Amino acid sequence: MEGNNKPVVHLISRPDNMLKTVYTAARTCYSADMPINIYNGADDEEKMLKLIERVVGSGHYSVIEHVQVSFAISNVSRACTHQLVRHRHMSFSQKSQRYVKEKGQFDYLIPPTIERDEKLKAKFVDFMGEISKLYCEFTEAGIPAEDARAVLPNAAATSIVASLNLRELIHIANLRLCSRAQYEIRMMVKAMCDELIKVEPWLKPYLVPKCERLGYCDEDKSCGRKPKLAQ
Ligand SMILES: Cc1cc2nc3c(=O)[nH]c(=O)nc-3n(C[C@H](O)[C@H](O)[C@H](O)COP(=O)(O)OP(=O)(O)OC[C@H]3O[C@@H](n4cnc5c(N)ncnc54)[C@H](O)[C@@H]3O)c2cc1C
Repeated sequence: MEGNNKPVVHLISRPDNMLKTVYTAARTCYSADMPINIYNGADDEEKMLKLIERVVGSGHYSVIEHVQVSFAISNVSRACTHQLVRHRHMSFSQKSQRYVKEKGQFDYLIPPTIERDEKLKAKFVDFMGEISKLYCEFTEAGIPAEDARAVLPNAAATSIVASLNLRELIHIANLRLCSRAQYEIRMMVKAMCDELIKVEPWLKPYLVPKCERLGYCDEDKSCGRKPKLAQ
């Protein structure tokens, strides 16, 4: 995938009553009324958003666990998805390197730091070609793809379907939109958040780097977006 380093991300599933569901969960905690009555009566967006911000702001996170979204993601590297799958409250289905045998040159992602240097980029591309030759030599000799894949690089392109609830997405956004996160997962998570914000704009203040929610930077090295707390 030379010269095309952008993750391809689509939101493929979400409930169409996301805001009302989260509001109903939050309101139920403080109401004598039945949740179904709260749900049916929920029509004031400003009131709903205010309560959600108050509840979530106080750390009462279970209310945002009731809605789940799914993303179809491709044109990302295995290095990128390896970071994503470290998040434990998600469900994944990923293109298998056991069942999907590469035919000819496999797709790969070139890190921009290498891509912008013509000489280094040429070396990178050559090396991907060498790996591909070896991989094909192995599979043509009857080595199963599940073993031949041992020579494939972190840069190999992959596809993954990822599903998660809103609490986990906000957590991931807070961590991975931080400028300290690796560039590719940052781009991918940004694309996931942008997809959801397009249809659920009320989520914009939540799907931000953690410093935006904290009001300060808690990293060792700050990018300067927010001040560090005084030592
Ligand atoms: C900038 C950056 C650099 C990183 N560098 C490295 C690295 O060098 N090496 C490395 O190995 N990893 C690294 N990681 C991965 C990191 O250590 C976490 O594995 C990953 O970010 C998942 O985050 P999490 O555990 O907060 O979240 P999730 O797994 O998404 O879980 C969400 C939250 O649920 C709770 N939770 C989940 N599981 C448990 C549990 N078993 N016990 C208690 N609470 C739990 C925690 O509150 C957690 O924050 C890095 C991550 C970032 C963002």
